[in-house]
Amino acid sequence: MAHAVYPGSFDPVTNGHIDIIHRAAHIFDTLTVSVLSNKAKSPLFSTDERVNMLKDVCQDLPNVKVDSFSGLLADYVKKNGYDVVIRGLRAITDFEYELQMAQTNRKMAPEADTVFLTTSLEYAYLSSTTVREVAAFGGDISLFVPDRIADQIYEKFRKG
Ligand code: ADP
Repeated sequence: MAHAVYPGSFDPVTNGHIDIIHRAAHIFDTLTVSVLSNKAKSPLFSTDERVNMLKDVCQDLPNVKVDSFSGLLADYVKKNGYDVVIRGLRAITDFEYELQMAQTNRKMAPEADTVFLTTSLEYAYLSSTTVREVAAFGGDISLFVPDRIADQIYEKFRKG
């Protein structure tokens, strides 16, 4: 059995993330999508809100669960016995940071390997930052996130 974890900020989850989740869930026996709760950043959505949005979009995937963590990914991976860390690669600009992180994690948690899934071309441009920026100006994000997630994003900006 291979247990994978897909860590990230998911602030908010996008169709690009969902594509990676579906593909990773197809390859590995179990997949845990885990929200990084990073107090240094000030996210648009709280950890609980991000977890709930992910649970919503993953509800039809029986081998996927959603969790959150804080601190070092390597410690979280060791504690939970994950075999694989999933990361998505969009462009060459992602590569340098991702390579460094994968190598650092492998030093600290040698029992796990990082597996990169390359973005589906239709989502190569898509990031949570883009979604937040377009939504902040009332732009159309219906191509970037599922409708139920879009409603929550607009609502967040309405409340300010
Ligand atoms: P970060 O860890 O930089 O905050 P995110 O939480 O937004 O990034 O994303 C988590 C993971 O999903 C990262 O590996 C990122 O490269 C990947 N990812 C984000 N958007 C896409 C996309 N459109 N296609 C494929 N992978 C993506």
